[in-house]
Amino acid sequence: MIAKELAQKVLAEALKTGADLAEIYVEDVVSLQLRLDDSRLDQAVRGADRGAGVRVFFGNLVTYAYTDELDEASLMNAARAAASAGSGNSKTQVIDLTVQKSPLEYPIEKTFDTMNVADKAALLSSMDVAARAYSPHVVQVQAGYLELRRRMWLFNSEGVQVEDDRTFTEIRGGVIAAKDGRLQRVGEGFGGRIGLELFDRNDALAKIRGMAEGAVRMLDARACPAGDMTVVMCNGWGGVLFHEACGHQMEADFITKGSSAYAGKIGEQIANPIITAIDDGTIPGRRGSLKFDDDGTPAQRTVLIDKGILTEYMWDKVECRRVGRAASTGNGRRESYRHMPMPRMTNTFIDQGEHDPLEIIESVKKGIYIKGMAGGQADISRGDYVFNATEAYLIEDGKLTAPIRGATVFGNGPKTLMQIDMVGNDLALDPGMGMCGKGQAARVSVGQPTIRIPIATVGGTDDSAAN
Ligand SMILES: [Zn+2]
Repeated sequence: MIAKELAQKVLAEALKTGADLAEIYVEDVVSLQLRLDDSRLDQAVRGADRGAGVRVFFGNLVTYAYTDELDEASLMNAARAAASAGSGNSKTQVIDLTVQKSPLEYPIEKTFDTMNVADKAALLSSMDVAARAYSPHVVQVQAGYLELRRRMWLFNSEGVQVEDDRTFTEIRGGVIAAKDGRLQRVGEGFGGRIGLELFDRNDALAKIRGMAEGAVRMLDARACPAGDMTVVMCNGWGGVLFHEACGHQMEADFITKGSSAYAGKIGEQIANPIITAIDDGTIPGRRGSLKFDDDGTPAQRTVLIDKGILTEYMWDKVECRRVGRAASTGNGRRESYRHMPMPRMTNTFIDQGEHDPLEIIESVKKGIYIKGMAGGQADISRGDYVFNATEAYLIEDGKLTAPIRGATVFGNGPKTLMQIDMVGNDLALDPGMGMCGKGQAARVSVGQPTIRIPIATVGGTDDSAAN
């Protein structure tokens, strides 16, 4: 990190050409990544990256320069480069920086050094063995481990000085099962803003056996029927549909550009009244949780939809300034010091409803139940989506029957939100593997209870295309 006096000097330099706001973002990242493929550890990479970015605001014109050196000369150069867009000649300003504390705590019980690298690699090997032992149909196993500590410090000319120390631990697995020339893959991950206590709270071997079981079961799946039918989506990871097909459109940049279906709709009904949706950057241990966002704004809980009514968007500093709004919602996030922040989700979910999940399945005469989804595709500014199920079942006369392969669900997020007519009482967030792409990568969580979409378009695929 850099000394307060140096930060003051760099900010003063950045303001010299007439900017009304300047900011320094400093970051230090260390990581270790292990990957096991075909029973061999094929990757072990240690990473270290540090640097700083200087952002300067001239009204709505924003300029940015970054450096991977944290010495005074490099930081002053970055400040001058960012300030060079200005034409004014301001007097030197004295910036009084005050450290802001967060009431949020994300304690780490077991730091990365409490387990050596060989033991971490051995854990991946035992996952490989466990998955292969499950069934002779298991033909390929992948396992990965990531530990990441990302510290950030931010200073700005409004006098803000904050820091956040973000530790993530993640395990990922993937199992491919084969039979009669047919392949099925099930992959999952778990983790969060957590230390190695992750392993005390999750049984990695049980998880990978579960993946193997899913992949083997899907080998005997029948082809998915196509057409319009009722779709029931599982709790937890199923929330990725809301994130991709609706959540992005509630990010303020899509709103101020006017490209979102939700622009100008605050106070209007945009979902069935049984739906409440929330973005909450303050949940302990979750991937999207923050003390402060990358604008230096405290993380918060924002109700986006309250009983079907659109109540708020997700804001960062730039978009707030654009429309003259006083307070950001703490959704300014950036991939690294090489990037400027933009409005991003944190942990976003549809809130708890009233129905027993069994009752939801029992309500369906003919339809499909989606238990696992691979990433799909969504046009994030309009909300048209296609999601591919990795694990799905037929629902016949209120009961789950045969596993089905190749199920894809098509729709439009805003329309789907109006349609959802049952929301379960089994709210869960995903196991901790969510990565959001919007030009920049960001760790996020998604979630929901079991939900029912009364009529959705389902496309089946023929066997040759399913994998
Ligand atoms: Zn996303």
